[in-house]
Amino acid sequence: RLKENGRNGCLLYDPAFEHTAINKLTLQHELMEAMSRRQFLLYYQPQYDLRSGRLVGFEALIRWRHPERGMVPPSHFIPAAEESGLIMTLGDWVLFEACRQNRAWQRAGLPSYPISVNLSIRQFAQPNLVGRIAEILDETGLAAPYLKLEITESIAMDVERATAILESLSDLGVGISVDDFGTGYSSFSYLKRLPIDCLKIDRSFVRDIHQDPNDRAIVAAIIAMAHNLQIGVIAEGVETEEQVRFLQQHACDEMQGYYGSPPLPAEEAGTMLGRDHGLAIAGLDNDNAAA
Ligand code: C2E
Ligand code: MG
Ligand code: MG
Ligand code: MG
Repeated sequence: RLKENGRNGCLLYDPAFEHTAINKLTLQHELMEAMSRRQFLLYYQPQYDLRSGRLVGFEALIRWRHPERGMVPPSHFIPAAEESGLIMTLGDWVLFEACRQNRAWQRAGLPSYPISVNLSIRQFAQPNLVGRIAEILDETGLAAPYLKLEITESIAMDVERATAILESLSDLGVGISVDDFGTGYSSFSYLKRLPIDCLKIDRSFVRDIHQDPNDRAIVAAIIAMAHNLQIGVIAEGVETEEQVRFLQQHACDEMQGYYGSPPLPAEEAGTMLGRDHGLAIAGLDNDNAAA
């Protein structure tokens, strides 16, 4: 199940690996070991303002640096971590590490931006989430507005509970984004009840913008609805200039995707922050960018 990468001798992960029951159990066991061996790390994907082209933040994305299988993407282990409950420990580590890293950049005198962290539904249901987040902010010294939490529409399944938790988080000062927006089966009614700052338009709607009029209609409608509700909107998975143009024409606020930058190791993200003097990505207007 290991493949040699001819170019640099790196071992690549074979996705066929986890498709058996025995490997599922092995995987859960391995995840616990990986925690104690500190094999998890965070990558950071830049987010850009669509008017100015300037950096506005990062999303923290977990990776598993496996000694033999190489860099394992979250889709190969987050489901198992959720099933086994290990997501609680892992998610706690992600929150702490993202806040610690963001504070470390600030302490190094680099420009400050919010960092977005994905919360799984199980983490969201944990009894003392708000208290724990307050504690992490306190321990790392990060101010609440520099943390944004990404939740999915599925939290709206229990709106009463979600309202109580999100209002406490909002009172604390952290931002709340709805990830993969448009892919859940929930009604929109939660949008007017919950303190949501931002919708992230799912990549599946952005991908075929240039060829599918239905996707164009959906993306335009999400942006218009978000703005009418005084909610910000960011497009995910933006890969082409055409997509950027369309999003700009419809006044989408921000973008994230390979067109701007892939997720980067912490050190490279730090380097990008260090160069952040009017940093603008190609193809975006950058009137506001400093010379
Ligand atoms: P997500 O939160 O929707 O994150 C965006 C995903 O899209 C990331 O995949 C990112 O690498 C990928 N992406 C970004 N730009 C592009 C693009 O232009 N084109 C394409 N094709 N893909 C792009 P990644 O890092 O593999 O993460 C996948 C999912 O795993 C995330 O989706 C999120 O749901 C979950 N995840 C990642 N890190 C964490 C974590 O720390 N905790 C939890 N609970 N879930 C996480
Ligand atoms: Mg996300
Ligand atoms: Mg997303
Ligand atoms: Mg997504």
